[in-house]
Amino acid sequence: MRFPFSLNVSLIKYLARQKFAGREKYPLVTMLEPLHTCNYGCEGCGRIVEYRNSITEMMSVEECLSAASECGAPIVSVCGGEPLIYPKIKELVEGLQAQKRHVYLCTNAHLLEKALPKFKPISQLIFSVHLDGLEKTHDMIVKFPGSFQRVISGIKAAKAKGYWVCTNTTIYKETQLEEVVQLFRLLHSLKVDGMLIAPAYSYEAVADRDIFLVKEEVRKRFKRLQSETRKFPLWNTPIYLDFLTGKRDFRCAAWGNPTRNPKGWRSPCYLIADSHYQTYKELEEKTDWNYYGTDQEPRCRNCMMHCGFEPAATIETTRNLRDGLRTLAWNFF
Ligand code: SF4
Repeated sequence: MRFPFSLNVSLIKYLARQKFAGREKYPLVTMLEPLHTCNYGCEGCGRIVEYRNSITEMMSVEECLSAASECGAPIVSVCGGEPLIYPKIKELVEGLQAQKRHVYLCTNAHLLEKALPKFKPISQLIFSVHLDGLEKTHDMIVKFPGSFQRVISGIKAAKAKGYWVCTNTTIYKETQLEEVVQLFRLLHSLKVDGMLIAPAYSYEAVADRDIFLVKEEVRKRFKRLQSETRKFPLWNTPIYLDFLTGKRDFRCAAWGNPTRNPKGWRSPCYLIADSHYQTYKELEEKTDWNYYGTDQEPRCRNCMMHCGFEPAATIETTRNLRDGLRTLAWNFF
């Protein structure tokens, strides 16, 4: 089984409840950004640009917990900024677990080894570690010499203590696919539980940088990558890989992974911030979901949004028995 058993159970129960309630649009993953401060300044990061005037603002633990409960998604992806520098990260993770939510803690792992005693190695917590290549490439992308070695030490320490660890690798224009395969071989030898890959696509805050892939390039790259990474425990679902390889058209499900940060609920999505609303209800009601994600909005043209649990892909599995069985088989065998 790829994912923790408890995560599978809560997800299946949650999806069944939505299906029986006849809901077409519902949140699956809350993207929670308690702060935007970071100890790195990565090449592809938009947050340090978009929120430069409020980079030191933080949400309180109470605000974070109330946002998670207002939204109600079974998974919370705690991201940022760098969540391990959030002063009350322990209280936040414990509070989310007390709400019976599953936490993906998205980290650059610079502080992971030191932070481990704050947490318990239970299946409700998965460290999702950002790693974009082997040593030279990764250190260059995150602009921090020595980062790669720290990430590897952090992963080793977390696995030795029994934590769930997955990695998240972004594929840029210049990424060499052979290097990704070598990286996965190394991660597999470290007994990482899962590996996520996603294309770097241009979006508003970083549109001026020539490091991103357009849809056609994504399709070519991922077709090759898919065949070369079969032997590794990829956590990208088969349906999401269909989107990436062009076997089916990507469908925006921005409502499935709403983003909350110190400014409010970001609308429409993790990538575009046209507005911020103070309540989740406002985000749901005031965002024009029929406009975003269509050809009418040029900023959506190259999007293949992923958040670890791609709502578009997961929700497809509830609509079509064949996709449901395919995903189930992929997950369990
Ligand atoms: S398609 Fe557009 S609205 Fe949907 S997630 Fe991508 S950028 Fe956001």
